[in-house]
Parts: sequence; C-alpha cells; structure tokens
Amino acid sequence: MDCESHKVIDVQIVDKRDVDLKSMRMEKLGLQRGMTSVRLRINVVELVTDASTSVKAMMARDAEYKEIFHSLDVWHKAKKLAKALSEASKKKELAELRPWKRSIVNHFWWSCEQAQGDVQKLKAIWIGVLYHVSGEHTWATSRCHHSDLTEADINDTAKTPLGVDSQAMKFLRKIVLDAKWMRSMAYYARSRHTGALENYHSVILKYAPKRTAFGFDAFKARCLLFAALDHYVHVDRQHAQPKTSSERRFHRKYNKNSQQWTVTKVKQHKTYPHISQLMHRVLLRKVKDTGSVLQKPLKSSFAQSTIAPVAPVAPPGTSSLVEQQRSRTGNSNSTVNAHTTREIDEIDDVDAR
Ligand SMILES: [Zn+2]
Repeated sequence: MDCESHKVIDVQIVDKRDVDLKSMRMEKLGLQRGMTSVRLRINVVELVTDASTSVKAMMARDAEYKEIFHSLDVWHKAKKLAKALSEASKKKELAELRPWKRSIVNHFWWSCEQAQGDVQKLKAIWIGVLYHVSGEHTWATSRCHHSDLTEADINDTAKTPLGVDSQAMKFLRKIVLDAKWMRSMAYYARSRHTGALENYHSVILKYAPKRTAFGFDAFKARCLLFAALDHYVHVDRQHAQPKTSSERRFHRKYNKNSQQWTVTKVKQHKTYPHISQLMHRVLLRKVKDTGSVLQKPLKSSFAQSTIAPVAPVAPPGTSSLVEQQRSRTGNSNSTVNAHTTREIDEIDDVDAR
C-alpha cells in the first residue's frame, strides 16, 4: 500500500506450504515477494510495517534493503506504552500514575508528530514528559510546548504532580529513558501509521472470512479482485454529512481498556461502481467465447501438486484408521462404527475411481 494515497499497489498471497508449514515465516516471505514485485515498477525509499522481529531483522541486515528507511507503526508502539502504564498503575504503590496514563501516551503521539524525521528532536521532546508530570514546565535545556497553564489546570486535583523520588516517578523514568525504547525511536521519528492497511485487511475478511475454507484460486480472486478493488474505489470516501444538516456525522465508541468514550468519523456509503463494470466485462467475454459451455475453467499458475501437502506425515489408509479407532475404543460391533465404516468404504471407492 502506498503511504500517501493509501492505494493498494501489490498483493502477495503466501501458502503455508511455501514456508515448510512454519507460519511465522509467512509474513517475511510475503514482504520479500512484494518488495521484489513493487521495486520493478517504483523506487521504494521507505517501508512502514508493524514491529515484526523477523521483518526488522531482515530490513536491518539484508544488503538488498540497505537504501530503504524502515519505519514502524506509531499506533502499535503507543498501545504497548498504554498497556505497560495500565498494568503498572494497578499496583497500589504506582496508583499515582493512573490519572497521567492518557497524557503520557498522547505525549508520545505528539512527540512523534513534532519530530518530522529528526530522532534527536523526538527524544528531546519525549523526555520532557518527565518534567511535565512532576509540575516543571521549564527546565535548563527546554520547556513544555503547551500554552500557559490556567488556574483550573493548576488546581486540577485529579492530576497531582508526581514527586521526584516517588515510586511512580521512578517507574516512569525507567520506561521513558529505557535504552531499548530510546534505540527504537528512529523507527517512529517520521510518525507513520499502518491504520489504512489494517482497514484493507478488514475488507479482505469481508470477502474471504477466516471461517470459510476457499480453494487457492477463489481466495486469490477474493483478495485481489474483490477486496483490493473495493478498497481502491472507496479509499477516498468523504466524511458523511446528512442532507438536511451541515453537521458532519460521527459514531460513538466505548473503549473498555481506557474506559472512555471516543468518536470516529462516519464516511459516505460505499457505491461499488466497479461491480457493474466487472459484470459487463464477464458477460462480454462470455458472448465472445467460442468454446463449449462445459469447458473447464483455466487452471491456476499455482502448482499445488509440486509442493508439500499441508500434513507433514503421509496419510495411512482410511480403513486402517477406522481399525485403529475400533481397537482404541474396544467397541468393534457398535452400530455407529459399522455405519461409519460403510460410509468410509464408499468414500474409498470414490477415491479409487
Ligand atoms: Zn508542561
């Protein structure tokens, strides 16, 4: 997906059998294939992903990608920070942190936005949160960037400044100044998000729900043809506005973790203009087709017969499995087993044919 336009520019489908049934390797292989495909057409200067360890290692070590800047999704990092603060603030000795949780996470978002690619600037702004929560808004090297505090802000008893030697402050200092966290700042200095990509994934789930098993060709068509086109034609939908009002529409949402209500934009309805065009083309192809109506569809280029089966162990005969089951249960004459065997024999007959 292109970061600016949010349009899907390449889709790769990885079969588990391509990676020796090790699903952990699928993401990396899909990315490698996608990069190869995309780089034939455009010059990739930056890649934005979530924080997959294998992808991070690949981008850091593989000479093929050394010219590409790797950014990570800020939302995932902010969520990780929010989780750490939530867990900690459940402890009695760190309860003072509780009212500051949201402000600290918001400060991380804001720091990334302000950095504009400058890692040192990001670190400097981020560290400022330690001063702000302790009630200091100006210090030797910098100052807070918010406007002057009002009387109401100063008297807000819900957010008591953290004492410099308090347990809560010690914990927060550990998180904010953590060496690993600081090293990772370069990934967030451009404030990139993968939210649009996740929206596209939810469109894929609409066309290819996980509960239903599809053949490879059907799955490919649903991901490429239907989901990618659906996303493509609707990606620039505007914020919905009722005919009778100039107000924009919003949807309320309650977050159980933060225990807060938020609003999201309601977009205009989808119109699916591409469906009639697709149907038109299908019918036209059929009209012009000189072959028989009984002809078989074209086979996929995906050669399933040349790769390993999903089960790593070759299957024994069905009848021998039934025998094994009978000997395990010790019930060789039950009606259910006899019935099952007859059905299975029929299936074997069909297989043999
Ligand atoms: Zn401040």
